[in-house]
Order: sequence, then C-alpha cells, then structure tokens
Amino acid sequence: MDGLMRLSVSEGLIIERIAADYFPDDHRFPVRISYKLEGQALDKEGRFLLGCKAGPTIEASNLLHEMAHFAEREVEALKKRPVGSWGFKFGKLVEIPAVSYSRFEFSGVQHIERELRVFGYHLNLARKYEVGETAKSLAGLCRFLQNFLLYGSSEEASLTIIEKRIEEAAAIYTLEKFEDEWWSRTKLLRI
Ligand SMILES: [Zn+2]
Repeated sequence: MDGLMRLSVSEGLIIERIAADYFPDDHRFPVRISYKLEGQALDKEGRFLLGCKAGPTIEASNLLHEMAHFAEREVEALKKRPVGSWGFKFGKLVEIPAVSYSRFEFSGVQHIERELRVFGYHLNLARKYEVGETAKSLAGLCRFLQNFLLYGSSEEASLTIIEKRIEEAAAIYTLEKFEDEWWSRTKLLRI
C-alpha cells in the first residue's frame, strides 16, 4: 500500500462490514472495492471499481458515496460501462490545497440535483454503518462546488438549504430502495 495513504483500524473494520454485506465473494459480481482509488473506475473485465480514497485518507464514507452513485445512476448508462466519473462529463478539475483534495466541478444544477439524491442514499448508509456523517456534514462537502452556492443568497444560506434537501432526499432514497437498486443492478450487470 502507498505510504502516503492513511487507513485507520476502525475505518478498515467498517469497510470489511460493508464488503460482507454488499460485495459477495463471486468472480462474476460486477462491483468491487478499491482501497487506493478515488471515485469510480472500471477493470479489464468490466467490473466497476469503487474507491475508498479521498485525498490522503481511506474512509468508509467515500466508499458509501460511490455505492450510492451506483444505485442512483441510470441502468442504461451503467450498461455502457463508464470508465470513470460514472460516465459524466465534468467541468474543470478543482484543486483544493487546504485539504489536499481535488474534485470535479459540477457543470450545472441537474448534476447538483443528482448529487442530492446520491447524498440521500449516502446518509442512510452512513447511519447504518455509524460513520458519523450527518446531513450537515454532507452539505459541508458542497462548500467547494460553486454551483451549490446558487441555492441561497449566501454560502451559509445555500448550505442550510442543501442540508434540508439532503434530509428530504434521505426520506425518499431509503436504505430499502438502495438495496433494491443495488441487488437488481448487480444482477443485471453480472460479468
Ligand atoms: Zn458524488
């Protein structure tokens, strides 16, 4: 493992629990966990690799976010086996030196609306595994995405609106719905 990467024992144990619950040990299963990856990629056989990394740290919450993207992305788009970023075209890559983290700027409000649905699943999964994320902490991740700041008259007002929207999304994008989408998609996309 890369010496720059940090994985705490507790995060490792949570990732193992997630693996046991959602990643059966079956070579035809189309989704795999990647500790050293940030975001989504595809392996040579067409398996979706879901990353646990963001900046220098490996955290269960990053994996849960990518799992949420898998459950939210349209089946037709997944069938095309996107090689990265879930097949989305993003704007410029934004470097955030303060947190040694980089991420793609979203290109419009539609992407933000999609991300809010993803955060709905993410929040429910975060509660299941008690990784400490809240609607407020997830909303805080949007601080770096300029378009999120269109929601209110100030950054603070926008983040308050987004936090509320994430709570609303979590009531619709429930754990039960996540599991329905997860298992039907992984069945449909088998290698
Ligand atoms: Zn996302």
